[in-house]
Amino acid sequence: MIPFSKIIGQEGPVRLLREAITREKMPHAYLFSGIPGVGKTTTALALCQALNCEHPRNEDGCGRCPSCRKMISGNFPDLVILEPDSQVIKIDQIRALDRVFSFKPVAGAFRLTVIRQAEAMTEEAANAFLKTLEEPPPGNILVLNVTEPLNLLPTILSRCQRVSFRPVPAALIEAWLVENQGIEKDKAQVLARMASGSPGKALEMGRSDFLERRQELLFDLNRIIPLAPQEVVQWVLKYVGKDTKDKREAAVALLLDVWKTWYRDLLLTKADCPEQMLLNIDFSRELKNASADFTIDDLVESFFLLDQAERDLMLHRNLDLLVEIGVLRLTRLYGRRKTTRE
Ligand SMILES: [Zn+2]
Repeated sequence: MIPFSKIIGQEGPVRLLREAITREKMPHAYLFSGIPGVGKTTTALALCQALNCEHPRNEDGCGRCPSCRKMISGNFPDLVILEPDSQVIKIDQIRALDRVFSFKPVAGAFRLTVIRQAEAMTEEAANAFLKTLEEPPPGNILVLNVTEPLNLLPTILSRCQRVSFRPVPAALIEAWLVENQGIEKDKAQVLARMASGSPGKALEMGRSDFLERRQELLFDLNRIIPLAPQEVVQWVLKYVGKDTKDKREAAVALLLDVWKTWYRDLLLTKADCPEQMLLNIDFSRELKNASADFTIDDLVESFFLLDQAERDLMLHRNLDLLVEIGVLRLTRLYGRRKTTRE
């Protein structure tokens, strides 16, 4: 639990919420939109704390009163968080929420309900929810979190006050990882760049073996790309393994994600962009060397090839075929400059 003052990179949303508290004019429903991990739920929790704090300062929770202490320990009774249950939000979950709403808030003045991934509501659930949204009982504030507002029913959208969360600049994420999460600077620098503006994603990657796997994938790419195309295909298929469909797809997703950053960085290096723009900044020397082997056109084409493969993957196209076609095209682009040079 963190107060508004500690939320990074969301000055706009925080200002708007603080102003609503000052004016004592809270809408009964907000729609927070932005990429996963950008800070939507954290901001909703800060709002809940500020609204229920007994001694708020500058429209922020004090962190010491009983209500703030309950928020911090995760025991605040008037905070409801609703999340998808096996990918969807079901009508039963909305009915259960209505039962909660039939009682007054227990502890403080406001009950705050956060619906995470609100776009995951089934059609039935969304229609039932519309009624809840029309007239929530006094003292209730709803916060709907979505990545893309257009995935919600227009009738739901029009009943919420919209707040957009922008991706957080890498420099802010980096400082936050070092100062608040105790991650070493070198690591934080790479994580922040790889997180595409999402502090939550950066932290998740930092806690997993992402950095080690990225390093391996980059070394492997540079080692295998000069091999014969069929050998490269064999290597990738072996890497993907014979696990379940989900695990194989996740392995390919990671590979494509990392390789895409490599080709992006090669392109920027080739175009003499400042080093600060690189995602794999810890590989800047290797990038410089490798970029000499490509033309700009080949790098652009390679990047779009991986991008297309990523989109095909999301559509659950045949995985082996996708790997084979993608890899063959990629090695051909490498082979092309070899033949041109020789
Ligand atoms: Zn307080």
